[in-house]
Amino acid sequence: MRTFSLQSGSNGNSIYVEAGDARLLFDAGISGDQAESRLRARNRAIRDVQALIISHDHWDHTRGAGVFHRRFGMPVYMTERVYRAVRDRIGKLKDVRRFLPGDRLTFADVTVQTIPTPHDGIDTVCFVVEHDRRRLGILTDLGSPFLGLGEALEELDAAYLESNYDPDMLRRGSYPDELKRRISGGRGHISNEECADLAARCIGRRMQWLAAAHLSEQNNRPQLALDAARRRVGSMLHVQVASRYEAGPMMEV
Ligand SMILES: [Zn+2]
Ligand SMILES: [Zn+2]
Repeated sequence: MRTFSLQSGSNGNSIYVEAGDARLLFDAGISGDQAESRLRARNRAIRDVQALIISHDHWDHTRGAGVFHRRFGMPVYMTERVYRAVRDRIGKLKDVRRFLPGDRLTFADVTVQTIPTPHDGIDTVCFVVEHDRRRLGILTDLGSPFLGLGEALEELDAAYLESNYDPDMLRRGSYPDELKRRISGGRGHISNEECADLAARCIGRRMQWLAAAHLSEQNNRPQLALDAARRRVGSMLHVQVASRYEAGPMMEV
């Protein structure tokens, strides 16, 4: 299995995964032009992507879904409730394939397990992609380190894992108190420290690399996310940060 992040952050998310005969995109939070050019830069054609799978309704995950579908011909997998929430904004979709949170989706010899999270989007799920006994987690918009998340991580070979905010930056920052409470509450995002705690559970297990993902612009810095993780895992686990502004390197799983 191979994967790279086209972009990851509260400004827009999209992650590419290829394995066996399957070519998949998870979320469409960037423009069609950006997605096409970032795939082309890795010698991948966006028209070869067989499915776009949407984690939840928030705009940083859905804004390009209509364009990805109409311009590049990929069917869109989302729940009925997410479709109803976004259809007026993303425009007409001819091929929506509905799933329920918790469903397991199959694409050729690849399976995608959807896992409901307590995040405050509609029907929010995160993903475990499995092919040939290798497992990749795409774990953002988590709300909190919910029951079962740590156990799921321990069974993964690699993961994108949310590391949204530094608690001090959030506390000192300019966001209104209500928004601060939403982000740090149990239905918002998980912090650098929570990410680092989860990463520590993976030491000595299958995990080969972990990409801190979905960083906030206002309330985080890549170096802070990295430092928090390194304080917990040292050199026992390879940790990198998925960029808010550009595609990451192609990674093997
Ligand atoms: Zn998000
Ligand atoms: Zn969200």
